[in-house]
Amino acid sequence: MKVIEPHIHMIARTAQDYERMARMGTIACCEPAFWAGYDRRSPEAFYDYFYHISHYEPTRAAQYLIDHYCWVCINPKEAEDVAFSREVVSFLPEFFDRPTVLGVGEIGLNKNTRNEMTIFEEQVELALKYGQLIWIHTPHLNDKQKGTRMMLDYLVGHGGVDPGRVVFDHMEEHTLRPVRDAGFWSAMTVYPITKNSPARVVDALETFGLDRMIVDASGDWGPSDPATLHDTIFEMRRRGHRAEDVETVFYNNPCFFLGQCPKFKPQPTRPRAEAWQVAPHTAAG
Ligand SMILES: [Zn+2]
Repeated sequence: MKVIEPHIHMIARTAQDYERMARMGTIACCEPAFWAGYDRRSPEAFYDYFYHISHYEPTRAAQYLIDHYCWVCINPKEAEDVAFSREVVSFLPEFFDRPTVLGVGEIGLNKNTRNEMTIFEEQVELALKYGQLIWIHTPHLNDKQKGTRMMLDYLVGHGGVDPGRVVFDHMEEHTLRPVRDAGFWSAMTVYPITKNSPARVVDALETFGLDRMIVDASGDWGPSDPATLHDTIFEMRRRGHRAEDVETVFYNNPCFFLGQCPKFKPQPTRPRAEAWQVAPHTAAG
């Protein structure tokens, strides 16, 4: 089965991680723009970062037969300084023309402040103006639910946002329902130590269904591992789910969402309506 890694920070990973991912079946990966483990000291540092993920990483990934895509934005952990953030946002459109840039992300909230929200809203407007997909980071702190609600209320109240073109990432049991009910896509991130485990993610898929669901490993500079995505595939198989349903989650769903950007090359193996028609009880035994 071919696998797509929809959210990973390859800038922080070694070539050996690309090699492992290739061996495990990953044929494409997507790198949202995020924090570097430290705050950048100038807007130009972001320019260099976007240059790196949109020019250099695709060539590194290609050596392992992996297509590398990316997203650009000012991330929520560095969006507290509004003037600084606006300087970064001003040169994002330069990167929208790059052949591997999929949209604006991962934008969102970190501490749920007014300033973070202002920059979130301005980047949503920019994405709409340029017809870009949107990838949203929900806070990892205690107030994930509040931050998710703030962004959801804004997007629903906006009136001009197509929920089919927006993903809320780092979803957990308590935030999935409102996001799904409003028609947005959800992504769940698997980590080796903290937050979502493979078992929790498969529990959520069994509870909520497979439509508009994405799973990612979010490998970065902290405790994380690209293999957790493949551990989750194994967990879903181990519970007896049908091969075509596993493929829906780990290959076709990313194709359905990301394929709305014509630059994304992998093609789904089945039409969406068919892939999302899951028998009420798909697990064996
Ligand atoms: Zn991330």
